[in-house]
Order: sequence, then C-alpha cells, then structure tokens
Amino acid sequence: MKSLPTLLGGIEAGGTKFNCALGVAPDQILERASFATTTPADTLEAVHRFFQHAQTRHGTLSALGIACFGPVDLDPSSPTYGFITNTPKAHWSNTDILGGLTDRLGVPAAFDTDVNGSALGEGTLGAARGLDDYLYVTIGTGIGAGVVANGRPIKGAMHPEVGHLLVPRDAERDPFPGACPFHGDCIEGLAAGPALEKRWGQKAETFSPDHPAWELQAEYLATLCWNLTVTYSPQRIILGGGVMGQAHLFPRIHEHFQRIRQGYPCGRAASTAHTYIVPPGLAGRSGEAGALLMARAALPASHTASAAM
Ligand code: ADP
Ligand code: ZN
Repeated sequence: MKSLPTLLGGIEAGGTKFNCALGVAPDQILERASFATTTPADTLEAVHRFFQHAQTRHGTLSALGIACFGPVDLDPSSPTYGFITNTPKAHWSNTDILGGLTDRLGVPAAFDTDVNGSALGEGTLGAARGLDDYLYVTIGTGIGAGVVANGRPIKGAMHPEVGHLLVPRDAERDPFPGACPFHGDCIEGLAAGPALEKRWGQKAETFSPDHPAWELQAEYLATLCWNLTVTYSPQRIILGGGVMGQAHLFPRIHEHFQRIRQGYPCGRAASTAHTYIVPPGLAGRSGEAGALLMARAALPASHTASAAM
C-alpha cells in the first residue's frame, strides 16, 4: 500500500505579514495564505486557523518550520527560546512565537530567524546553490542578514544584526537623521522601507525609477555590501526583501560597490560585482522554501525516509 506523503508546514513570519504554506516539498505547495502582522493574539490565531483548516483538506501536518523576524532567542536552553525578544515593532516584544504555535498545533517545529530561513532556501534551491559562504540580506520592513559561513548559519551569542551596522552619512546631502529608534542613522535607519517612506514622505513602491531616492539607496546598500564583504568574505551576497523589488537598484549597487572597492583584492567572487551581488533565485519564495526545509529537518526520525525531497 502506498503511504501518504508527509505534510510540512512553513511560516515566514515578517514584520508586515506572516506567509504560511502547507506542502509536501518546497516545490509542491498544496495551500498557502498570508496574514497581516497586527497583534500577536490576532496574527497567531489566523495562522493557527489556516493550518487547522488546511489539515482538514490535505491531512495531518507532521512538522513545522518557523522563520521569524527578530530579534529572536535561538538558544534551545533558554527559557525564552522561540520568543521574539525586544523589538521596536509595537506589540511584539517578548512574544512566544514557537510555543504559541506548537502548543496548539502539537507538531515538532524548527525555529530560526527569517533571514536564516531565506538563506537556507536560497542555498538549497536558489542563487546560492553549491556555495558554503554566502549571505541572504533582506531590505524590507527592516534590514537583516542570514550569514552562512563554512556551510552553516552563524549564530554567535544571539544572531548577527547587520541592519544596525553604522555607515557614513553625508549630512549635507542626506539631512534625514535616520529612522532607527536605537541609533538613528544605522543602515536600517537609512535604507529599510520605513526609512525611505519617512525620508521622502511616500511609500518606496510609489517612487519612479528616476527618483533621487534610488541613487542614495544604491550607495548605502553598496556600502553595506562592502562592509559585509570585508567582515565575512562570502562567495555571494543575495539581496532580497520588498525594497529590492526595484530591480534597477542592482546595476547601481554594482557600480558603487566597484567604486568603494577601489580595486582592493577581496577574492575572485567579489571582483565581478554583477555575479556577486544578486537577486534571490527563488523570487519571493526564499523564505517559504527555507521554512519548509526547516520543517523537514524537524521531522521525527520515523518520517524522514518518506519525506526525502
Ligand atoms: P517584511 O519585511 O515584513 O518581510 P517586505 O520584505 O515586503 O516585508 O518589506 C516591506 C517594505 O518594503 C515596506 O516598507 C514597503 O514599503 C517596501 N516595499 C515593498 N515593495 C516594494 C517595492 N516594489 N519597491 C520598493 N519598496 C517596496
Ligand atoms: Zn539601528
């Protein structure tokens, strides 16, 4: 008798929306849905209901992968493991994401940062396939990076928070003091979606390609890529997130990156900017794919043979 396929759940928990998927594999999604990130009670309830209803149609879920915006607690021995800790996002500080979802769904779950989830998706199926050293950077509601070194995401004492790197700002050219509640003009305070909206008075998705915002944005992001290059020495940097929906940013970032590099030798990969700083290979699906791969890794041993992808 043919056994039923193992069902996996993936949640890409972002500061704007929670994307949920139920599937057999990253390329075999049976159902997906998206819910606004409002309050923990409402959003987690909506996610829970989605999986409950989806299970009545497709069968019982075997494991969950949660790739979550942060900062988050990734230490399994900590009493707040699986929590969003101290976030500037209203209502979400000290929220038990992992427990809030697994208590009710009753399945084993893997928990990681949103960007580590996307990095896993891109490393397995997207623009970083075959690479051991790469970064997935999101430029969306915030800026953050999943840093993969020697084939593993760097965790450190907490997890890297590259969005709060400081970058030079010419106050005459850019008088905007930045939007980060902690630092003002860190890279997230200067170049994440909300910073663009605050500086220019309209949402970034409404700017035309020749808006002056973009040249400044490309310079800031090229500076970020340079700092990441000399810190982590990756083979590739993937730039994703809502703001990078502006594809015209890439050639501008490449140009500024080469200007900043000044011919400095930082390896063959970084010397050809257009193959080094790239968009995601999974266009908008990196996080979903990563979350499902995380779920697969969380499966009990009895399931892993039938869930091979
Ligand atoms: P999240 O960070 O919640 O995962 P996104 O990556 O979609 O969500 O980022 C949302 C931010 O990106 C918002 O600040 C929005 O204004 C901005 N954004 C979304 N789409 C675009 C676009 N096409 N061009 C520029 N900015 C965008
Ligand atoms: Zn900051």
